[in-house]
Amino acid sequence: MTPPIEYGTVIRLSPLVRRITQNNPGLYPGPGTNTHLIGTDDLVILDPGEDRDDGHLDRIVAAVGAARVAAVIPSHGHPDHWPLATKLAARVEAPIGFFGNHPGFRTDLSLGDGDLVTAGRLTLAAVHTPGHLGDHLSFLLEDEGALFPGDVVMGWSSSIIAPPEGDLGDYLRSLDRLEAIPNLTVGYPAHGPAVTQPYHRIRELRAHRAMRTRQVLEALDAGPSTIAAMVATIYRDIDPALHPGAALSVRAHLLHLERDRVVRHSGGGPGWESAVWERIG
Ligand SMILES: [Zn+2]
Repeated sequence: MTPPIEYGTVIRLSPLVRRITQNNPGLYPGPGTNTHLIGTDDLVILDPGEDRDDGHLDRIVAAVGAARVAAVIPSHGHPDHWPLATKLAARVEAPIGFFGNHPGFRTDLSLGDGDLVTAGRLTLAAVHTPGHLGDHLSFLLEDEGALFPGDVVMGWSSSIIAPPEGDLGDYLRSLDRLEAIPNLTVGYPAHGPAVTQPYHRIRELRAHRAMRTRQVLEALDAGPSTIAAMVATIYRDIDPALHPGAALSVRAHLLHLERDRVVRHSGGGPGWESAVWERIG
């Protein structure tokens, strides 16, 4: 049994992993941002969360206690993950690690694919997993077969892929890369409870995208179409308030199919509203 999400409590997930969930639920953070503290006397802290006046910072600092913090690392540059990084890093006197640079904070420790972050005897391996966002890093804690997949592999939802920052082809390749890591026993995502069957979940997420791709192609089999018309068909059973997000997802699938020369578009407009898509393959 994996512990449910609780706000403001330090939840022990394993001998080396603790989780504090920020009370910031919403469309993107879903049930809230999970801040993970990894290690015992020496720690790495993933995803500090949002900078709001809710005690999250104090709770993280209290959970750190007398431990040394080797790095504070936002998994990617979305605003539910990084804004607390600067204040937290100052409080626990640690560098901020990140993939490349971000305009919102200073990166002390530039991390790339395959880089190792060490804290005492603890080692985390960075895996570059773009798709949700180009700067997204996942982390592997080999000692526990634990994967920290950020927003790429979550149990409660698929990832939002919003072009141009999001890229479905990159996302699918990132799933392949994570699936190829041997001996994973658990995933600790940045939102929602632990993923207890990581390989199974990765395959489900891939199958979900394949289903959406089929639906987009079926919609186009009826003739050339705009994204809005495709969304109205494919998502007719969901709340129209979610249709703008669905339109981004359909766009991500279309751009991926266009790169593979299966579809093409004419026209456009800033939000692709007037683009007409058709099947060519
Ligand atoms: Zn995100």
